[in-house]
Amino acid sequence: QTDLKDNGNKKKHVVILGSGWGAISFLNKLDTTQYNVTIVSPRNYFLFTPLLPSVPSGTINIKSICDSVRTIARQTPGEVTYLEAIAKDVDPENKTVKIEHKSQRFFVGDAFTSERDPLETTLNYDYLVYAVGATVNTFGIPGINEYASFLKEANDATAVRQKLFDQIEASRLLPKDSDDRKRLLNFVVCGGGPTGVELAAEIKDYILQDLSKFIPGIEKEMKVTLIEAQHNVLSMFHPKLIAYTKDVFKEQGVDLQVDTMVKKVDDQNVYATYKHPNGETEDITIPYGTLVWAGGNAQRELTKQLASKIIEQKTARRGLLVDDYLKLDGDDNIFALGDCTFTANPPTAQVAHQQGVFLADHFNKLSKKNDIQYLINNSNDENEINKLNKRLARIEKTDKPFEYIHQGALAYIGSERAVADLSWGDWSTVALGGTMTFFFWRSAYVTMLLGIRNKIFVVSDWLKVAIFGRDCSQE
Ligand code: FAD
Ligand code: NAD
Repeated sequence: QTDLKDNGNKKKHVVILGSGWGAISFLNKLDTTQYNVTIVSPRNYFLFTPLLPSVPSGTINIKSICDSVRTIARQTPGEVTYLEAIAKDVDPENKTVKIEHKSQRFFVGDAFTSERDPLETTLNYDYLVYAVGATVNTFGIPGINEYASFLKEANDATAVRQKLFDQIEASRLLPKDSDDRKRLLNFVVCGGGPTGVELAAEIKDYILQDLSKFIPGIEKEMKVTLIEAQHNVLSMFHPKLIAYTKDVFKEQGVDLQVDTMVKKVDDQNVYATYKHPNGETEDITIPYGTLVWAGGNAQRELTKQLASKIIEQKTARRGLLVDDYLKLDGDDNIFALGDCTFTANPPTAQVAHQQGVFLADHFNKLSKKNDIQYLINNSNDENEINKLNKRLARIEKTDKPFEYIHQGALAYIGSERAVADLSWGDWSTVALGGTMTFFFWRSAYVTMLLGIRNKIFVVSDWLKVAIFGRDCSQE
């Protein structure tokens, strides 16, 4: 890597941890001719998570929503190196990150699955852009890690599809009235946030629209159950849209079990407590064939470890604390964004994307300020120094703190219907639900997809499904 800029000033080394929404949005807008950049992530692709719930049903092919990090890095000018590795330790005092590579694929959560000794190295940074996202929150509920699937990573989505097929095929060996057959054909989703709702909706569509043709009669036998601890699903949406979602689920036959708190799971059953309207509680057991846990986010071990090293982060239980410029409280060289932080904004792709774009702009200005300061330090000409100081002040004035602009929330709820909570500035909020909203939902997501290649793939996946239906064979 070249260490000097054209003006002779030294380039700063930026290490980016992660290849998700925050990291890639940052990289795409950063002036990479002004920095040496190393991007470290165990995932060598960017994953467009909003369409991940469409993967287990086969509506979307997983490859259509993955974009290679190497390609993204290659398209940026300047020096950008990608290392397929996981950060194991950040040392804020010495400004280093210990990274580890293993030849196996990245597994769910924080760990690789490999028996081999890891290959390790240490990177020095001038600035660290920390965007490692979050992991799944299991709340320590017994059995979830052992028996449930998740819907967080690409391989989670393909594993859920595999599990669904395995259970359907296994059930065919059993008599129709057997309890075990009924159990195998119950697809249970725990957590009625947007992830759980969209997954339940997609699976129900799949059963009604495609599996029913592939295995006639399965639509009468197979159940989709959505369990939610609170009284409502999609609690962040407008009450009108919550009611509309409940109606659509009822019409489609999704078994919605609200006020039901999961306490434990084993290899065949979910054990929960149902709260009656009069406040009394009842223990219930829900047998399952496929179980997906969508209970929300928790911080990664690396994030907790980093927080424990900085006094100002001692209260950072739900995520790293950052200032208005996304700089970590208590450290001048680490910036954090996305799901690993705790701010006034929700942990969404929309927020992480806007933070990434903001931070790149801040870094571009930081580099310009640094260059001007370098010229000031190397000049003896009073006039020149005055001019440079004025330029510095102008840049400083435009370097405004991060402000999140909420553009609304969208969710697919099944049978070609979606809900949308849209806002235009501070003055207007619109709650929409229905088929038109579904087309709006689709066009919004195509617009959000980062590359033209993915846009073409996703649209062609939807066209294929519209013409031929979803694929019903096991990969
Ligand atoms: P991520 O995008 O999760 O990226 C984290 C990156 O860090 C990954 O590349 C990971 O491999 C890497 N990493 C992890 N550990 C390490 C380590 N130790 N060292 C280096 N790298 C590491 N939000 C919306 O706004 N709209 C939606 O429709 C929507 N749909 C969603 C659907 C699903 C199924 C899910 C799970 C989430 C959805 N979200 C949606 C939320 C959104 O995906 C997240 O808020 C967003 O991904 C957060 O971005 P991030 O950059 O913080 O983390
Ligand atoms: P979430 O935190 O939004 O929802 C988790 C749900 O699980 C909650 O409703 C919670 O009450 C429930 N839950 C937790 N413990 C439970 C238990 N023991 N028993 C029963 N229910 C339990 O999580 P998510 O849906 O994975 O979403 C995570 C983030 O990603 C959110 O910020 C969300 O807005 C975002 N996201 C957005 C979209 C979208 O906009 N379409 C889609 C997916 C995710």
